Amino acid sequence: NYRFYTRDMNARGEENLVLLDGLRQSLDASMADDGGAHGFTLLYQPKIELASGRMFGVEALLRWEHPEHGQIAPARFIGLAEDSGMIVDIGDWALRTACRQAMAWRAAGLPPITVSVNVSPRQFEERRLVERVAAALADSGLPPDGLELEVTETLIMRDLAQSIAKMRTLQQMGVSLSIDDFGTGYSSLSSLKSFPISRLKIDQTFVRELADNPGDQAIATAVISLGHKLKLRVIAEGVETEAQCAFLRAHGCDEMQGYLFSKPVPPERIAALLLEEPCQPEAA
Ligand code: C2E
Ligand code: MG
Ligand code: MG
Ligand code: MG
Repeated sequence: NYRFYTRDMNARGEENLVLLDGLRQSLDASMADDGGAHGFTLLYQPKIELASGRMFGVEALLRWEHPEHGQIAPARFIGLAEDSGMIVDIGDWALRTACRQAMAWRAAGLPPITVSVNVSPRQFEERRLVERVAAALADSGLPPDGLELEVTETLIMRDLAQSIAKMRTLQQMGVSLSIDDFGTGYSSLSSLKSFPISRLKIDQTFVRELADNPGDQAIATAVISLGHKLKLRVIAEGVETEAQCAFLRAHGCDEMQGYLFSKPVPPERIAALLLEEPCQPEAA
């Protein structure tokens, strides 16, 4: 048993080293900015406003193809990138790419939408975060209100005062903030009211069994009414079924994101969807 355990741990450790090495190679290539042959890409997932059926925004989601081992799930590599600190530069690439893409859609005459970018703790805490965001906006030409950053409660709580100060600065620049995976982190209700945010994202773990789990129903409806009382928009993530969508709609959820509407897709597909407006699930 003991031996098996260590062997597993060693295998995992070796695999981590292989992935870290690959991340480093991809990152170096992406910094050389050779036009995308480095293994990182962004997919974009539509966010739908329920009242209008309109795609009002998209979330940028990072994909990585290891030079030899193919596609690696974010759940596998984001943590390694975070622990090694590489997430600061990888995240900066994602931020710049997402802003440039959002501006390209606008330049093509498509209706303006907001792009949301996930920010991890190391990235958020990094000294130059605000400058990096300002540079991504300036270089792309995207107006600040075209950008939203998704942060987690856990990230904010690592240094509450410092986080709130940074969030205020971003908000004053015109960038909006949302709390991702809401309900799974460690923020207290009393701190929530001081977050300069505009949106709560109900975590997909509460959405999964929404149709028939009374506990999840209670949590989802509580988050919706809490959000509304704090004058925030509420979005549900991971919406896959009509039943989940109907429940959320009936309880006043403002917005949704999930496979029911669209998986994360390449930017050309977003452009096509924007031309097809309004985008509603078939039976809604
Ligand atoms: P997240 O920000 O909570 O993103 C939502 C995840 O749910 C995404 O997984 C998305 O593809 C997936 N998803 C969307 N709709 C559905 C659905 O209907 N059903 C199910 N089962 N899943 C759905 P993904 O793309 O694998 O990303 C996982 C996590 O990795 C993200 O969670 C985010 O925390 C992190 N991540 C992704 N891209 C970036 C990035 O550019 N920077 C940073 N720092 N983190 C990122
Ligand atoms: Mg997110
Ligand atoms: Mg999320
Ligand atoms: Mg999540």
